[in-house]
Amino acid sequence: MNKKIGILAVLFAISLLVAFQVSVAKGYSAESPSIKARGVKNVIILIGDGMGVGQVEITKLCYGHLNMEDMPYAGFELTDSLSGPVTDSAAAGTAIATGFKTYNKMISTVKVRGKVVNVTTLLELAKYSGKATGLVTTTRITHATPAVFASHVENRDMEKEIARQLIEHKVNVLFGGGKREFDTETLDLARRNGYKVIYTKDELKNVDGEYVLGLFSESHMPYVLDRDNNTVGLLDMTKKAIELLEKDPDGFFLMVEGGRIDHACHANDVASVVAETKEFDDVVGYCLDYARKNKDTLVIVLADHETGGLGVGTNYGDPIDEHRILSIKASVSKMAKEIKEGGDPREVIKKYTGLDLTDEEVEKIKEAMNSDNKYALGNAIGEILSERVGVRFISHIHTGNPVPIMAYGPGQWYFRGFRHHVDTSKEIADIMLFGGERSVNANGIGVIKGDADGDYRIDLDDAYITLNYYVGKTTLNNDEKRLDMDNNGIIDYMDVIKIMEMAES
Ligand SMILES: [Zn+2]
Repeated sequence: MNKKIGILAVLFAISLLVAFQVSVAKGYSAESPSIKARGVKNVIILIGDGMGVGQVEITKLCYGHLNMEDMPYAGFELTDSLSGPVTDSAAAGTAIATGFKTYNKMISTVKVRGKVVNVTTLLELAKYSGKATGLVTTTRITHATPAVFASHVENRDMEKEIARQLIEHKVNVLFGGGKREFDTETLDLARRNGYKVIYTKDELKNVDGEYVLGLFSESHMPYVLDRDNNTVGLLDMTKKAIELLEKDPDGFFLMVEGGRIDHACHANDVASVVAETKEFDDVVGYCLDYARKNKDTLVIVLADHETGGLGVGTNYGDPIDEHRILSIKASVSKMAKEIKEGGDPREVIKKYTGLDLTDEEVEKIKEAMNSDNKYALGNAIGEILSERVGVRFISHIHTGNPVPIMAYGPGQWYFRGFRHHVDTSKEIADIMLFGGERSVNANGIGVIKGDADGDYRIDLDDAYITLNYYVGKTTLNNDEKRLDMDNNGIIDYMDVIKIMEMAES
């Protein structure tokens, strides 16, 4: 018996030593892969920010058919965060990117006994396994949804710091708005890290290279309805991103966000909701086609949360007027700006929507102009227009409604039923690393660091068990502490990576 304990102690010491050396040697840099992914080659995650079933339904009523309808598997995502049933994009995105619930505003960080701890993301996991990575959005590239995949900060408003971290992470493709968040220092760092930095549609068309930073707008990209021929669209960016990323023989991980569906919902701007969701659905169609031709590609379509509580139907029971919705030629935000700059409300609304405002509606707009809330005017116009076209929002903020998730490709059948973002994250990690299917024998955590199944050795089963049963934990019992390979108080994808490194070395 003493002999056995002695052997165990030696094994334990060796495993600690190996873990220590691995962590010292690797640090954070995924230039050369440190683990080998055995699952699906390409993962594309498409996120419609604020896109609930109502937003999808109204866009379908306007256009007849959506590409999303061709996704063979679908389910509902619960979106609650540690702040409560109503999440923001930071906590929802963190759950999708890391498998951890966190508090609103936090970007891929969690609190462990009051301390803020970074949590490893799916994009980092992809990078560690040698895949190319990309983030594409119509918002600022430093906004919450792209940020959660390749930065770690306590508060989403730290966008200049997020910009720096996106570059530090060497994400191969970064396309979106947000030029204003990249100061000279960050741009210098980008160029030193090998990035080509581009700003225009022409440059996007011709660009090539391993690292490309495309900043196509000072802040968010313009709404679809407000664009001109020089504006870069979400589909342009997605096509180029895939063209650049697919050159990597190990495959790629790409997140594309239809980021302004949410903004349109906040303003109750139904015409923009439809236009932004349609653009997002065009991207869904393109990626579906790509996955049909490239079988080793998983496409996931989901929303981070719902915004506005949008539904077809009003008090008056008037049918939805899809022709009117499709004939509106500007966003509510553009109309509000023109009125604020002295435009006559009746004329501005008539010009862009063809509608004649009633006296009460003009009164409502004038009242909103006197409000201290800078969004009040846009909100008032949005309320008037949505009522006129037969839809209604219950609020200007996020709701706790479950949102749709759809999947196509290897492992698609996992993404169905009622689930939470954290389940989806871990399933994507599992499919990417292990192909989604592995039968393991778990006898409980062993005495050796990293031995998740208690068989006194470290192999891929331990990484698999750690991923599927323990990732997401922020309070660890004494057994679980032996799976916290980097001793940061949580079990996240980094611990899975470290166990895989030990299994493979
Ligand atoms: Zn929002």
